[in-house]
Amino acid sequence: MIRTDLRYHRPGTPREAGALLAGHAGDAVVLGGGTVLLPMMGRAEITARHVVDLRGLGLDAITEHAGHVEIGAMATYRHLYTSPVLARRVPLLSRMAVGITGGEQIRNLGTIGGSACFANPSSEVPAVLVALGATLRLHGPAGYRDVAAAGFFGGAFATDLADGEFLASLLVPHQQGRTGYHKLKLCEGSWPIVTAVATADPERDGAAVTVGAAQAVPARIELTALLSGDGGLDLGSVDALVRRQIDDPWSDVLADGTYRREVAGAVVRRAVTDLFEGPNR
Ligand SMILES: Cc1cc2nc3c(=O)[nH]c(=O)nc-3n(C[C@H](O)[C@H](O)[C@H](O)COP(=O)(O)OP(=O)(O)OC[C@H]3O[C@@H](n4cnc5c(N)ncnc54)[C@H](O)[C@@H]3O)c2cc1C
Repeated sequence: MIRTDLRYHRPGTPREAGALLAGHAGDAVVLGGGTVLLPMMGRAEITARHVVDLRGLGLDAITEHAGHVEIGAMATYRHLYTSPVLARRVPLLSRMAVGITGGEQIRNLGTIGGSACFANPSSEVPAVLVALGATLRLHGPAGYRDVAAAGFFGGAFATDLADGEFLASLLVPHQQGRTGYHKLKLCEGSWPIVTAVATADPERDGAAVTVGAAQAVPARIELTALLSGDGGLDLGSVDALVRRQIDDPWSDVLADGTYRREVAGAVVRRAVTDLFEGPNR
């Protein structure tokens, strides 16, 4: 039960939402799907007297543009994996969304914006956004500003959002080249222990992997030096390279940092195998 006296606000425009957040800075929270926020308010881990619900802003559309897709911050996981635009242009996001645990309730209510702004290191979402080169469009008192995903995630549960700002949408480039994806979970219903998105860059004959959940923010690791002339990759060298790069691993109740660092290489190897041998998604 939430024991604070609350005022619920449902603004009808981004400007109105921004004014509410700025006017009650430090005492207002943004409501996405509420799947994380409301239980945390019930446990008094987050306290605020003003709840600003973004549902009146029409921010759940997924629209195709030349070179990129714009995804409203209030698009749910279900919107993502049922979107024909994403299936065609950014299939990795559909693949990620269908694999989020927590069951139908979470997939029907949890939003991509809420997940990005919560910035839980164990979430699938931050590393996938960084790997795809996404841009986050924030709305604040001075209007809109765009931030690259790689710069948005500042640490565990920390983002670049300033007082009075909210995430309005995400701009994701059309996927070019192949991707490979793998995640390790303790069981079907658990949050990830480590995730890896391997990407090939045909323009410069390169490859890279973005590792999630292994440290507080996603780690992008260049793999080009391990590429062999025949188009394969020296998998035997992957573990040592990944271990060197994950120098400050993330610990939580699911797994401590030592374990995450140890298994990260194996997760990356599987993502790389998927990159070269799996379906091109
Ligand atoms: C049982 C369970 C299992 C889960 N398993 C996974 C999993 O395997 N992988 C995974 O990645 N996630 C998992 N999740 C989390 C899921 O991704 C959440 O749904 C998501 O993190 C939060 O989304 P939401 O829209 O409900 O956000 P909310 O709960 O509404 O908000 C979360 C935080 O973000 C802020 N916020 C929300 N929207 C915005 C916005 N547009 N602008 C600014 N701030 C905003 C809120 O103020 C709050 O601080 C799980 C959750 C549960 C309950």
